[in-house]
Amino acid sequence: MAENNPLTEEQLKELNEIVSLPPEKQKERLGPFLKSLNPEQTEFLKKQQGQGQECLFCAIANKKIETKIIYEDNNYLGFLDVNPANKGHVLVIPKEHISFSTQIDDAGKLFNIANNMAKKIFDVLKTGSNIFVANGAEAGQRLNHLVVHVIPRFENDNINLTWQGKKIDDKEMGEMQKKLRIEVEKPKVKEYNPEERKNEENKLMKMYERWNKRVPL
Ligand SMILES: [Zn+2]
Repeated sequence: MAENNPLTEEQLKELNEIVSLPPEKQKERLGPFLKSLNPEQTEFLKKQQGQGQECLFCAIANKKIETKIIYEDNNYLGFLDVNPANKGHVLVIPKEHISFSTQIDDAGKLFNIANNMAKKIFDVLKTGSNIFVANGAEAGQRLNHLVVHVIPRFENDNINLTWQGKKIDDKEMGEMQKKLRIEVEKPKVKEYNPEERKNEENKLMKMYERWNKRVPL
């Protein structure tokens, strides 16, 4: 560390101990440790962290780490994942350090790139693919830098993206609908009378049941 390090030797020792712990233990001890620091020490540590651990995807975007690039423009980079879920697994990232897809004004551009990757996979690898984004740790995001995964899929490839559908009662579904609804100008759609609607629903349910049996995702 730098000469003008405001941390005491004891604090440094404790910090070294903390970073060598497994992540859950680290969290437990890091809180109280950070609280014990004065503002100057906190500021110093923040700076150190910023310098010492550049985000991996930023380092890739800045070409500090070499990757097999598949796509590049001024704002986005697509490259082969070094630990692919399957051969041909592509990662598309914004070059700027952005954490979540929700922080991009126009995510359409990013999705278009991923979509072109999926097209390429159809055309060249002759197979299907998943396009996958994790927003937040709860969703499985590991790095704090937005990434779109495009994963070629093959039969029996042991990638598990399946889930068991949950039963949610109608009241709760209604509440969720209210909470999540995004209002836009009312689209022009065909209005069905009750009997027509029942018929359409039945047809759809039959189709859905067949589909549900066939496709695991
Ligand atoms: Zn980054």
